[in-house]
Amino acid sequence: MSRHAVIVGAGVTGLSTAYHLARKSYGRITVIEKGRVGDGASSRAAGIITGLLWSETGVRARQISLTRFRELSDELDGYRFQDVGCLNLFDAASWPERERLLPLYDRLGVEYTIMDKAEMASTWPDLVFDGEPVGLFDPLGGYSEPDHYLPALAEGCRTLGVEIREGCMISDFITDSGRMAGVVAGDERIEADAVVSTVHVWTLKVLERIGLQLPLKSFVHQRYVTAPLPSPVRIPAVNANPYGGYIRPAHGNRLLAGIENPSAPEFRVPDRSFEMSAISPPAGLGDAARDNLLPLVPKAARSDRTDRVNCADYASYAGWEIEKAGLLSFSRDGEPVLGPVDRFPGLYVGVAFHSGGFAYNPASGVLLAGCVADGGPEIDIEDFSPGRFDPDETDAYNRTLITHAEYSLPGHSRRH
Ligand SMILES: Cc1cc2nc3c(=O)[nH]c(=O)nc-3n(C[C@H](O)[C@H](O)[C@H](O)COP(=O)(O)OP(=O)(O)OC[C@H]3O[C@@H](n4cnc5c(N)ncnc54)[C@H](O)[C@@H]3O)c2cc1C
Repeated sequence: MSRHAVIVGAGVTGLSTAYHLARKSYGRITVIEKGRVGDGASSRAAGIITGLLWSETGVRARQISLTRFRELSDELDGYRFQDVGCLNLFDAASWPERERLLPLYDRLGVEYTIMDKAEMASTWPDLVFDGEPVGLFDPLGGYSEPDHYLPALAEGCRTLGVEIREGCMISDFITDSGRMAGVVAGDERIEADAVVSTVHVWTLKVLERIGLQLPLKSFVHQRYVTAPLPSPVRIPAVNANPYGGYIRPAHGNRLLAGIENPSAPEFRVPDRSFEMSAISPPAGLGDAARDNLLPLVPKAARSDRTDRVNCADYASYAGWEIEKAGLLSFSRDGEPVLGPVDRFPGLYVGVAFHSGGFAYNPASGVLLAGCVADGGPEIDIEDFSPGRFDPDETDAYNRTLITHAEYSLPGHSRRH
């Protein structure tokens, strides 16, 4: 009899899991989504990817993602990975922490180039920096447009026989002798050999049905897109840590910028039916993105100046054409939570991808599909294991309310 896997959530993590399971000819695969494909954070992502992370498991996973993003450009109709590279910027305070990771990158064969301001200026004349940032360039990085990737991945799933059920909310799980045996959606019981929960910020509300908790925090995050610029801008995706955000080229000769909000309070999803569209960008942050990030690209000021433009020169700027806000989810130790749940054989989770769930998604799908179909992933993901947290500490952690700044990823230099 054919095996059946149910994947809860049709964001990039769930769809990628379904796609990679289908490529393994797993059997019947159903993705269940309470809204529409991409309704959660996935359609709101900036889509930036770098392989230069801060843990060995993270770096190894991103190596899978970077390879798969390129292959997916050939496999999925309407999708292309934008291989412009990713420039990660650091100031004097945050660089030593990152510099300590270079031996890890060398050992794992990860490509990178360290660049000073003059080298960056000659490589990307459209980029101009205040101060003396250090550039750590990832030549394999880049970005994807979520608006192209999501429909292409969903269609890729359907072509491989995956059923995607939209408008269907999972309200409970079916267990049988301690084993995960399926899900409940409304009046319907859907039996399955494997259940994969990829419900992002809804995780605590969904898993509470089986008394399972993980130490997770969510925060609002926002990004903006300009109107088309008069002339093309040639820049990589830039994780502009010292400037409080990031900036990248965007479809149609636009620029996309995202801005941090350290004072953002923790956001608690009120109930299972919560919709991410309820979140709008907090007041003032669009201006902060304009003032902090657009000056890095003087061409965005629609002026003839080629040096760094003062914020005042943006006063006539027409404003952002697109503004999007959504939620990021973080685990207590900053690493994703991905893999089998030992307490419930047959249950798998993929959550807490910090600001990098889009970048992780090809790897998350490959690794979760490996766990489900082959009994184990293709790389060691013990450091991502859902079982790594102490239940009492998890309980105490989840009772505490913190701000984004208090959830410290040192120096704000860990992004995407
Ligand atoms: C503004 C912004 C910018 C970002 N920029 C980047 C970036 O540049 N690079 C990067 O890598 N990442 C970025 N991220 C993070 C990235 O968007 C997320 O990590 C990623 O999209 C998570 O994908 P997901 O599939 O796990 O979750 P989601 O996309 O949130 O999908 C979860 C799905 O589960 C569904 N669901 C929930 N509960 C149920 C239920 N009970 N039954 C059925 N379905 C359910 C939801 O409706 C939702 O569609 C950004 C995020 C934001 C908000």
